[in-house]
Amino acid sequence: MTTIPRTTAPKSPMAGRLGGVQSSPVRDLLALIDRPEVISFAGGLPSPELFDLDGLRRSFHDVLSPATGRRALQYSPTEGDPALRGLLARRLTVRGLPSTADDLLVTTGSQQAISLVATALLEPGDVVLVEEPTYLAALQCFRLAGATVVPVRSDEDGLDPAALREAVERHRPTLLYLVPTFANPTGRTLTGERRREVAGLAHEHGFWILEDDPYGELRYRGEALPPLSAYPGGQENSVHLGSFSKIGAPGLRLGWLRAPGELLRALTITKQATDLHTSTVDQAAVAHYLAGTDLDARVRTLRDTYLPRRDAMTKALAEVTPPGTTWSDPDGGMFLWVRLPEGTDSAALLRTALRHDVAFVPGAAFYPGEPDRATLRLSFSSYPPEGIAEGMRRFGAALAEAPSGAR
Ligand code: PMP
Repeated sequence: MTTIPRTTAPKSPMAGRLGGVQSSPVRDLLALIDRPEVISFAGGLPSPELFDLDGLRRSFHDVLSPATGRRALQYSPTEGDPALRGLLARRLTVRGLPSTADDLLVTTGSQQAISLVATALLEPGDVVLVEEPTYLAALQCFRLAGATVVPVRSDEDGLDPAALREAVERHRPTLLYLVPTFANPTGRTLTGERRREVAGLAHEHGFWILEDDPYGELRYRGEALPPLSAYPGGQENSVHLGSFSKIGAPGLRLGWLRAPGELLRALTITKQATDLHTSTVDQAAVAHYLAGTDLDARVRTLRDTYLPRRDAMTKALAEVTPPGTTWSDPDGGMFLWVRLPEGTDSAALLRTALRHDVAFVPGAAFYPGEPDRATLRLSFSSYPPEGIAEGMRRFGAALAEAPSGAR
């Protein structure tokens, strides 16, 4: 075999936009803790026994019948299955955001929707404002697009509108990204009053709101609020994202976005270039499934299952954490956000916790700026109350053992 002499040095294999983007610590951690003995409060995983295996199996079986199967296996329009979009639009309308099938684009999970919005709207150097802390895979998307991410002060009621106004005037952002209802990682919910102010600011200053809403239906307490995008000024200035992952099953990778006409067209073109369309057969099966299922009843089952899990975790936190620890008290969703006493390093604590076969996500990764290292995220969705009690007992043992500085 002859070798061809190389005359030039190989080009750097990676594009510059990847420079500042780290692998997700949550996904890395999930790989690390994939041992049956570990009780993991790390991933935001829906409880698998709640997946409607029989219902979804029947739906796949039916759409793959001789009558419809060949169509379900064919290429299909980028916009998504019209029947599915109609069903989703009706559901969104009932939740307070009037929508038609034509307002929606089906996406491959809501994660793809974030990525499409980043590609369609952001020039390198554009500013994206985010609540702090925030969903870290959204941070990855904005960084991949070359945007500058600027955190905005947030408290127990979500993003602080006064801080937002200041940040908008100072940075002239293209986009504000937030999870207004049962946020990841904090579990916080933006109040109705603040929703009104945030939507009004977007209208007044002409920036886009990206409202990421995968948890909104998982409410355990209090009255539902309309989506932020439904408040005056919101509809024309926002993209609302929904997902089947937390109310159905995340392995289907089925999400959707709602956006005003011109932006919707741009996002559709962006999706054409990304993956042509979301899986035809998966969309057909979910449309078939939703048409024949009382999804509200299923959501009630999810709520009834997750509520005692949240309560088991907050009760245990009170028992096992040292004085000076605080945690969120979410009305819904899947997460508790914990702050250990000043000076604690939750990443160091995780190493001790893993020796006790329990896992969580250290909070630092959720901060776009200077992190608060004493914070961590616990997910309460994956185990029944007894499993949570055992996992929290191990968490307490790790806390008791950790050297000072690691707690
Ligand atoms: N946004 C938030 C806030 C999330 O927590 C998640 C999932 N963890 C996603 C988006 C992505 O969800 P999916 O792509 O499964 O719809």
